[in-house]
Amino acid sequence: MTALDLTLLLALAVSLGLCAWLWARRQPVVIRTVPPPAPAPDQLEALQQPVFLAAADGIDAGVVVVDLARRVRFLNHQVETLLEVGPRPLGQGLIAMLRDHQADALVAESLGDGEPRELALKPIASGRTLRLRCTPLSPGGQVSGALLLIHDVTQISMLERARRDLVANVSHELRTPLASLRLLVETVQSEPPPAITHRMLGQMAQEIDAVTQLVDELHELAQIESGRVTLKLSPTPLLPVVERAIERIRPQAERKQISILAEIHAEQHLALIDADRIGQVLLNLLHNAVKFTLEGGAVVVRAALVTCESPAGGPACDQPGDGDWIQVSVSDTGIGIPSQDLPRIFERFYKVDRARTRHVGGTGLGLAIAKHLVEGHSGRLWADSAEGRGSTFSFTLPVA
Ligand code: ADP
Repeated sequence: MTALDLTLLLALAVSLGLCAWLWARRQPVVIRTVPPPAPAPDQLEALQQPVFLAAADGIDAGVVVVDLARRVRFLNHQVETLLEVGPRPLGQGLIAMLRDHQADALVAESLGDGEPRELALKPIASGRTLRLRCTPLSPGGQVSGALLLIHDVTQISMLERARRDLVANVSHELRTPLASLRLLVETVQSEPPPAITHRMLGQMAQEIDAVTQLVDELHELAQIESGRVTLKLSPTPLLPVVERAIERIRPQAERKQISILAEIHAEQHLALIDADRIGQVLLNLLHNAVKFTLEGGAVVVRAALVTCESPAGGPACDQPGDGDWIQVSVSDTGIGIPSQDLPRIFERFYKVDRARTRHVGGTGLGLAIAKHLVEGHSGRLWADSAEGRGSTFSFTLPVA
């Protein structure tokens, strides 16, 4: 062994010894990871609590929890139904789910200042009206996310609009006769010749009748709509009901030389009806038929049995319940109804042409009342018409 070999051996031994010493003193290797920004632990825990999950699922509202970055951390099933979106992955931005910048900005503001906020949402896809309430979550005194509650308020806002429309319509309908009455009173006060005074008093009586009719029909509609009208149903032959209604309208028809005919082909069948109420429906349809038919025209009342079998076609069968129905129709040769107005004539206060109907009178409530009454019998009321050629109003009644 040379001196060089000896030196090399010594160096190797020293290195191995050094390595062994270093190995013995080694430190565990730590790989540090940066935790993802997540909601505060207590908030996350709350999202997993069975009570919270059960409440969120059972509540009649959409529930969404977002973190500070407005990422969705929780949502219940109702959210998908209300917003009409498919299943949403957690962690997605709120804006991708709501598709409403105003709502997203509102949540950002609430997260910024810790104040709750509310907003109405109208998702285009669903056509619903939603109310979104955002409540910031600040478990440790510091805002770490927000709870969003989404309620469907479509029904409430429709009722609210109907109420506003009703008030507007009633005041509009009252304004015209009241203005006319004021003018007539002022003229009578100026002491015109007796013949003019007499005529004006007659006009005043007519205006008072119009207002009285409006108030009566409004009251009637309110009673029906609130369910306070109970139908006294009993098996009834239809012919006497039709004849009574025709007799009541005949004087008016004769004044315009309008003929009225009845063709009843369901005599052997009894209808399960409240005879007074169906008489009222018929009278209303006959009254309109005479009112909107020119002198020398004709009105025909028909009744016949129709049998509906699922899936049966035809408007008479477009209702729940197969089987036999008595279909009654009132046809006239009058002015008819333009096709664009036809779907709306059963709405309260709807009149085809206010200028045209002003001199013939009417409240625009008669058909709305008739429709309620027929539907109260489980039947259906509809209209067919050709402008300038006439109209047919038909309804179905259950067979006893
Ligand atoms: P009104 O008291 O004005 O007659 P209705 O509710 O009975 O109120 O009818 C609503 C509107 O439908 C009428 O104003 C009229 O424009 C139209 N209408 C109803 N029946 C007929 C008919 N037989 N022919 C033409 N138009 C009709």
